[in-house]
Amino acid sequence: MPAFDGLIGEDFAAARGRPRDTSRPIMLIGYQDEENLGLGYLSATLRRFGYRVLGYNFNAEREEILAAARHERPLVIGLSLIFQFYLTRFAELVRTLREGGVACHLTIGGHFPSLSWQPTLEMIPELDSVVRFEGEVTLLELADMLSTGGEWRGIAGLAWRDDAGGIVSAPLRPLIHDLDALPYPDRTQIERAFLGRRSTHILASRGCIRTCSFCSIHMFYRAAPGKVVRTRDPAHVADEIELLHERDHISLFLFQDDDFPVYGVKWQRWAGNFCDELHRRGLVGRILWKISCRADAVDEVLFARMRDAGLYLVYMGLESGNDEGLETLNKRITVEQNLKAVATLKRLSIDFAFGFMLFEPATTFQMVRQDLDFLRAIVGDGCTAATFCRMVPYDGTPIKDELIRQGRFRGDVCNPYYDFLDPRVDKFCYELGDLLNVSGWVHGLESVSQQLNMAWSELAVMERLFPRLPGIAGYRKRLRAITKNSNALLFRVVDDISLAYTDGVPHGWTAPGLRRSCHGFLDDFLRERDAFVVRNQKILLDALERDAAREPALAGN
Ligand code: SF4
Repeated sequence: MPAFDGLIGEDFAAARGRPRDTSRPIMLIGYQDEENLGLGYLSATLRRFGYRVLGYNFNAEREEILAAARHERPLVIGLSLIFQFYLTRFAELVRTLREGGVACHLTIGGHFPSLSWQPTLEMIPELDSVVRFEGEVTLLELADMLSTGGEWRGIAGLAWRDDAGGIVSAPLRPLIHDLDALPYPDRTQIERAFLGRRSTHILASRGCIRTCSFCSIHMFYRAAPGKVVRTRDPAHVADEIELLHERDHISLFLFQDDDFPVYGVKWQRWAGNFCDELHRRGLVGRILWKISCRADAVDEVLFARMRDAGLYLVYMGLESGNDEGLETLNKRITVEQNLKAVATLKRLSIDFAFGFMLFEPATTFQMVRQDLDFLRAIVGDGCTAATFCRMVPYDGTPIKDELIRQGRFRGDVCNPYYDFLDPRVDKFCYELGDLLNVSGWVHGLESVSQQLNMAWSELAVMERLFPRLPGIAGYRKRLRAITKNSNALLFRVVDDISLAYTDGVPHGWTAPGLRRSCHGFLDDFLRERDAFVVRNQKILLDALERDAAREPALAGN
């Protein structure tokens, strides 16, 4: 069992000898409906230096959070704002805390506050500070200063309101140089399980070298000094996986890297070494893992090796099916490269999921039709369920600046949008969005596409983490047929509604009708899936029992 040796390296050199009083806890509040690794790293770092950390889901009842804050009297409350849409709700929470008598230091971090620190402090005047960019070292120093009565204003990486009411920022703190210096993140909740096989999020690297125009991630990592992309030691990542597998019986590892290290010679070597480390620990065949990467990084030889070491799912931000759209989004990739990546993954029998922006600022009806051709080419066979969205112009992104320059930016921080060049595309986009949202097809965990894609992940687990299940080839075939029919109807709906705008052909699709179709797909899928699982129940349960007997829980060790 690998043991983690504690913090090493220079990133925490100053913190090691600094005085601190850890008698009061630190409260961290963030979105935790899904596992939040960002908060997990902050929490683990603070605990490593002796602080007690209380984690709260931002979606918990406000009164519950207020009661906890009043009872625990934390030294500092740190809020993690991932989605800028939630800014108003964070502001309301902060107000509730202040009005409820919570007087401690209130700070906030995350993408939006880091890049838009002045608006954040203006919009939420009750906040004391903003922790900008990677927060582990800055938040620790803030806690140390507050706990010992030291001067916290001026801490590198912090922004605050000065005595004259002005908003100021200290020089930025360099990004963490050595990710292996961080402790393993606290995991307050383990993600969903597929047939008893538990999953969790994990990180092999931070940062992204690409420059997609709609993405605030690369802006986040470029604004602060330091190396943009940093990777952990592959052996260290494999150690963490081994620990989680043996101690917590986790079998699925969902890498949250913005761009998993597989691009170029150096990172291909990294990925190869990582596979070797998994083999060396005897983890292959016992765990599966998923990554996100760019399509131009899908290399047949490397990915075959990764598949053989447990890679089962690759998420790619394909985003557009036409070169003009890819250029607007500054993807620096071609449609051909996207198609090639998909073909390679299919040849290797690795499942894929993808992001796709059917609507972006340059969208025309002709581009929508090209996109549909592209989508039919990649998922028309039902290998995965189609999803798409409208590009959102987030704060701090080049595309938002460009839309402002063109006078097309609309809305506000919580609801940013833009005008299309052709006003008919606006109407088309809204009509389609309304129909699909109401019918529950594309968006939301319960939607048809999401449910089908979870079924594909579950199938990968059945195929690779259980003994051979009789009839599994037939189940795969039926799942593919259902997905294929769902995709085909979805594309027809998009096509027909777009034709209504360009050719004046009435489409006849209604929300109730589409909802019935969605329920039909879900009913078909659930019937097939449940029947298959029931038929194989004994094999599945026996395998789980055998594993449980072989891997005694070591929690607490
Ligand atoms: S590759 Fe992904 S993370 Fe990197 S800039 Fe593009 S969208 Fe952002």
